[in-house]
Amino acid sequence: MDKISIIVSCYNEEKALPIFYKELINQVSKFPKDVDFEFIMVNDGSYDGTLNIIKDLASKDYRVKYISFSRNFGKEAAMFAGLEHASGTYFSYMDADLQDPPELLLEMYNLIKEEGRDAIGTRRATRKGEPIVRSFFSKLFYKIINKMTPFEMVDGARDYALFNRAFRNALLSLNEYNRYSKGFFGFVGFDVKWLEYENKERVAGKTKWSFWKLFGYALEGITAFSTAPLIIASVLGLLFCLISFLLIIIIIIKTMVMGDPTSGWPSLVCIIFMVSGIQLFSLGVLGQYLAKTYLEVKKRPIYIMKETNIEENK
Ligand code: UDP
Ligand code: MG
Repeated sequence: MDKISIIVSCYNEEKALPIFYKELINQVSKFPKDVDFEFIMVNDGSYDGTLNIIKDLASKDYRVKYISFSRNFGKEAAMFAGLEHASGTYFSYMDADLQDPPELLLEMYNLIKEEGRDAIGTRRATRKGEPIVRSFFSKLFYKIINKMTPFEMVDGARDYALFNRAFRNALLSLNEYNRYSKGFFGFVGFDVKWLEYENKERVAGKTKWSFWKLFGYALEGITAFSTAPLIIASVLGLLFCLISFLLIIIIIIKTMVMGDPTSGWPSLVCIIFMVSGIQLFSLGVLGQYLAKTYLEVKKRPIYIMKETNIEENK
């Protein structure tokens, strides 16, 4: 008998959660009778009524399990906690705002069963409804990161997926502190099929992602999966050494042939500015990796749980 563990991370979702739950139950009822479910709701330090709503659901539906964090640890941490405590044979992750349509779940389940895949991932077919600037930078990001990593990161991939226990164990084995789960999906490999669907607007409440938060997340992705920026810094350094060497030769020859008119100081200032800029940039890149290493070395927990109704953890 199959049991599907659905993990839902919730951060201030009091408006969306009841609508989400209703839709989820509606879709789950369409599954074959021998498929069991558990809904692991992870309250990621919400300061609105989210936890009360979850507890209320849990008191009415035995399938609702919850894990409540001691503060906001971020969606990545919530996904990790949910996976860790899930007891199913298949696992799914969904957002609480219905942007990951639960009606796809049955199709995903059938696919995984019929085709014997390890995981079914989802990706957005279009970026409709998204600001143009954001779309542009997203596309650019995927172009860059796919050049830098040995595996593919699928453009528009959502965290919404259904996967088996082996895949889940592989995801859990990546227990690093700086979490970038979009990359984890490509990194672990396995036989993954991607389903496409139209982008959906969130049903209620508002997104927690500003442009700059996304920008930081993108940098996180690059530093988490590639050390190419360090190589770029070294190559730039080397390139500038070569250029300066050539320039020195040219200047020596010029001085010998044409004498030494004291000119060219504006260009000198420009060069100093540029070179020191590149030096600072490279130092910054180095600093990024050092910072990540620092956080990783401390081995702090990915999340801290305050309360739960999952028996094994009480
Ligand atoms: N979320 C979370 N912790 C956070 C931020 C978001 O658990 O610190 C949850 C949020 O409740 C939602 C999902 O992650 O279920 C996606 O968040 P959101 O809809 O804000 O992101 P978007 O869909 O706009 O990328
Ligand atoms: Mg959303």
